[in-house]
Formats: sequence, structure tokens, C-alpha cells
Amino acid sequence: AAARMAVTDKAKTVCTYCGVGCSFDVETRGREILRVQPQLEGPANSISTCVKGKFGWDYVNAEDRLTVPLVRDGDRFRETTWDEALDVVARRLGEIVAEHGPDATGVIGSSKATNEEGYLTQKLARQVLGTNNTDNCSRYCQSPATVGLWRTVGYGGDAGSISDMERAELVLMVGTNTAASHPVIASRLRRAQKLNGQQHVVVDLRRHEMAQRAEVYLKPAPGTDLVWLSAVAKHVVDQGWQDEAFLRERVNGYDDYVASLAPFTLEHAEQRTGISAEDLRALAHRVAHAGSVVALWAMGVTQHHMGSDTSTAISNLLLLTGNYGRPGTGAYPLRGHNNVQGCSDFGVINTFFPGYQPVDDDEVRQKFERAWGRELPAEPGLDNHGMVDAAYDGSLKGLIVIGEELSLVDANAHYVQEALERLPFLVVSELFFSRTCEFADVVLPAAASLEKDGTFASTERRIQRLYEVMPPIGEAKPDWKILQLLADRMGYQWGFTHPGEIMAEVAGLTPLFAGVSYDRLEGYASLQWPVAADGTDTPLLYTDRFHFDDGRARLHPLEFREPTDQVDEEYPLHVNNGRTLEHFHEGNLTLRSAGLVQLVPDTYAEMTWRTAEEHGGLATGDWVRLISRRGELTVRVLLSDEVHDGELWVPMQAAEINLLTSSVVDPDSHTPAYKEIAVRLERADGP
Ligand code: SF4
Repeated sequence: AAARMAVTDKAKTVCTYCGVGCSFDVETRGREILRVQPQLEGPANSISTCVKGKFGWDYVNAEDRLTVPLVRDGDRFRETTWDEALDVVARRLGEIVAEHGPDATGVIGSSKATNEEGYLTQKLARQVLGTNNTDNCSRYCQSPATVGLWRTVGYGGDAGSISDMERAELVLMVGTNTAASHPVIASRLRRAQKLNGQQHVVVDLRRHEMAQRAEVYLKPAPGTDLVWLSAVAKHVVDQGWQDEAFLRERVNGYDDYVASLAPFTLEHAEQRTGISAEDLRALAHRVAHAGSVVALWAMGVTQHHMGSDTSTAISNLLLLTGNYGRPGTGAYPLRGHNNVQGCSDFGVINTFFPGYQPVDDDEVRQKFERAWGRELPAEPGLDNHGMVDAAYDGSLKGLIVIGEELSLVDANAHYVQEALERLPFLVVSELFFSRTCEFADVVLPAAASLEKDGTFASTERRIQRLYEVMPPIGEAKPDWKILQLLADRMGYQWGFTHPGEIMAEVAGLTPLFAGVSYDRLEGYASLQWPVAADGTDTPLLYTDRFHFDDGRARLHPLEFREPTDQVDEEYPLHVNNGRTLEHFHEGNLTLRSAGLVQLVPDTYAEMTWRTAEEHGGLATGDWVRLISRRGELTVRVLLSDEVHDGELWVPMQAAEINLLTSSVVDPDSHTPAYKEIAVRLERADGP
């Protein structure tokens, strides 16, 4: 035992999967992961984890990890040295900037990378290349929630902490399958439900686990959440149940907002959403009379072409009923990736420097110009879609993609793949040879989260440190080192020897993180932004003022627009999609974990018995082809009573789901309407 102890190492990390931000010690012997051990002091999870955090680590040592850089040689790739690979990247990007200008290049960051790597991603784009063409995958998921919060309360982050979700009397969950997507939050809520009598109201297309256990479950017609939310708000006002004192003291825009609710009568809402007027009346009563309400939502709301407006409607309802700024209240868009919050927070967005400082604000820009020693572009750059479109039309010539499976995860995959095909120069930094790598000219082997130091920011705006558990595999490097080596070759010496120094630079330039330092984040310590210079953080926002100049929140008037890609005679079935508990997104990580694959091996379409009957008596395990107006996808059938007649549900790890989706986006956030898909279904022989 003594000998074994001697070779066992232990380091703290933060989970690489969802945005809950679970932290734990990882025990290793060499590269072997012996045990994942959550600790009492873990601020998000204490001694819990879910199955992904506990068992989802096989991918770190997977045989197909990239271990050396690759460069394209005709139709093939050949292994090369870091020197050659970085020389090629620096030379080609330099040529493109010289010939076509900085905006012919772009950098797409990774929401799985650390905050420090996010900071260097946008620094490379802005300082080294000279463009604001930088963005991250929140464009594909939660940007609409951020827009909804910016409009109404001012900060694009959760209003409080997970402990506030626990403390609330009533939890309204809209379009979030919390038990599968944010499992540790779900178990904390279930405990509050059981021990404190917390009420759960779930409004979702799917009768998933949280819905089955909720006090109230309501099923709207696809794409109509804004209608029932507005009808509930109107009924609150009609009954005089709004929080008058809160509105008077803290909120602007009441009259215009109430006027915009006029079309949303209970009768209209019943007819359009399928939820009875009686149920809506009862819901309005519950929300208005609960002592404290939190609203949780996720991609079931945001991935619609009305994602920003529906997110706004949720925040409006909370303002109307005085549910901000007290413990147990507020809006909580549940962030999907472990660091999708941090990636935007640290400036990997086309419109903002770190801390949401606008690129077109002269004072802000001059501050960064002084710090970085060059003139910076004043115009907002292209977002992810803009870069894909620019690659398609030929104006984007060079792109760096960090850890993003761009060719699969953006909607309308055929179009995206054609755009990547046309792109003259593509660099991909990855753990594995992903589908996107097939389009690359240079592939760089990146380190996994267990192989580096840094910080992540979780859904509750909580910044936490992760420590290197084991060194990078082969010649792989953490992205912060890769980005720094590249900057160096392109004439900018950053000189960082540790991510803590990168954080110090961020803190000096970013009021939101003024007091963030590695010392204050030692071990299991954490900070929730905004963090004042003296290190005081903010677990609960809006206690005194909302984040606008006058300190007052804003009710935002809304109109309803019908969802796109509606069902008709030719395409009669609606397709919804989402995460399973065991897998994560397109499955690049979890499909490499034997234990998780054993639990959920195949991709499939859930449907009701009746839908299966209507399609020739399909049974679980049969193969079917789903055909949308864009493409087709072959999956197995899974009969389920979690879905409703005429509606299918397909898990996201079937990344080919984007062969079915359209290029329609929410106009306010440019997030694709992934959840607006109509298909017809045919029996198939197999994939
Ligand atoms: Fe990781 Fe999320 Fe599971 Fe926690 S709940 S262990 S952060 S996947």
C-alpha cells in the first residue's frame, strides 16, 4: 500500500462537461485516472457529481488523441514538428492579412478552453491579426438568453447562485431538461422540492424526468412559449397581481409593456399554444403569489428564431412580479458548456472586449490600444455565422478554429461544409481528428482540461481554478501556449509563463474582473463576477440596482412571430432535439468513454406509440429515415411516452441532426432555430 501511495497523485479540477461547474480532486497514477473525488468545499456540487463528471474521462487517454501537429500534403496529412506547423500558420495568415486585410481572417474560440485561453483567443484576433472577427459557440446556444437579460436587467449572466435556485419557493423551468443537461442542479432542486416543499412548474415539449416529478407540467405547441408567457403576464396585470412597489421603485417601461400584452388573451393563448385558459390562469396565480420565483431555461427556449424575445418574456414576467434582487429570485439561463459563460465574459465575441466592453467605445478601445501597443479595429466583427457566410462567399480567407466541431454543430451542415471546403486556409486546434479537421490545412494537437492550469466560469458566474492533473499527451500543448507561440511568430511577444499572469492582465483591463487573482482563487476558493478591486464578489445581482445607468430595470414590449419550418402535409412531424444525461453535445468526448457508450450506444428518434402506428407499426429498434426540407438522417426508433403525438425527439449526440436543420436564425442573436424542424418519416433498412 505504501508503494502504491507513493506513485499516486491528486489535483483539483473543474468538470469539462456542463455549466454547473462541479469541482473535484482527480487521483491518478501516471496517466491512469484512478478516482474522481468531489469535496465538501466544492461550491457548486459539494460531494456530488453526475455520471459524466465521475466516469466521462476515458477520452483523455483515448488512442486517437492527436499527439503531433499535422499539415496538409495534397489530399493527405503528414505529421510534422511544432516549428514547421506554426511557421506555416504564421506565414499564411501574415500573407492573407497583407494581401486582403485583417478582416479576411477570423478566430473561433472554444467554450471548453479556459478563460485565459479565451482572453488570448480574442487578443490574437484583435492585436495580432487586427480583426474583431472572433466568436464562440454561445452563438449556437445561449446568446438569445443573454440578449433577453441585457434588454431587461443589464448583465448577461445568471441573477444569483445555485443556492438561490434552491431557496426559491417556486421554480419555473421552461425548455430545460435539467435532469439530463445540468444533473447536479436537478438533484439540488429535487431535494428542495422534497424537503422544503419547493414547487416545480415545467413547461416543455417533452415530459422528461423533471416534468414527471413537477407539481405542474404544461405542454405548449412547438415554438409558442412567448404566447403563453405573455398571456400569463397579461392575466397577472388584469387581476392587479403585479408587484406595484417594485415596479414603481425599480422598473421602467411598464405602460408600453402592458399595452404590448393586449393581443395575448387567455383565449388566444389557449388556441395557439394548446394550454388551457384554466391552466394559464392557475399558473399566473401561482407565479404572482409565490414568495420567491426563479426561472430556469435553456435551449428549448433559445434555439428558436424567437429565442431572444422569448428569453425577454421570461425576464419581463419576473420583473412584473418583483422577482429580482432578493435571495431565491431571478433569471437563470442554464449555460451548456463548462466555460461558455467564461468564453463570452473574456471577450471571445465580435462586439466586445473582455467584460463586455464594447469595441466601438472609443475610450475602451484606446485603453486596449495603449495596453497592446497598436491601433485596434473600431467596427464590430463577424460572428460565427458571418464567418461561415464570408467563407462561403470567398471574402474570408483564413480561419483558426479552436476546439469547435464547426462542420457539424452549426445549423444546415451541408452549407457549412461547403463553406469550409471553399476556405483557402483553415487551422484547427483539437484533441481529436474531428470532422472539421478534414477541411483543415494545419491541425494542432491541444491539451485536455486535465492537462492544464487555468480557470472556468460556470453558469452562476463563478470563476474557479483547475490545476494540471497530468502533463499533456505526446506533444500536445494547452491552447494558451499555442496561441502565445503563434503571436510570437507574428511579431508580438506576450511573455506569459503561467495562466495566472494572463488573469492579472485581464484584471487590469476589465472592471468586471478587477479583483480576480489566482491567489484569491487558490484551491476550492471561487469568485462570482462582478469582482471589485478589493476582491468582493457578487453571488446575487441587482440587490440595489439593475445594470443600467439609472439603475432601473426595463420591461421590454414584445410581439409574437410564428415559428419557421412548420409542419404541413408533406412534412407532418416536428423534430425536437437535446442532450441525454450520459452524452454531451456531438459526442466527441463522451462517445470515447466506454462506460457511457454502454449506457446509450445508439442515436435514435423518440416517438409515441400512436405516431409509430401511423407509420406502419414501427417498433423500438427499427430504422427510419427522417427527411426535412434540407436533408435526411437515418436513426433507430425508440417508443416513448415522454414525447407527444406528431412530435419526435432526437438526441444531440446524433450530430448529423444538422443535416435536417435550416439556416434560419434568431434576428437578435443570430442563434440558429435548431428546434424548428419539420420532417416526414420513412422506414429504412439501416444507416
Ligand atoms: Fe460535470 Fe455538469 Fe455533471 Fe457537474 S453536473 S459533474 S459539471 S456534467
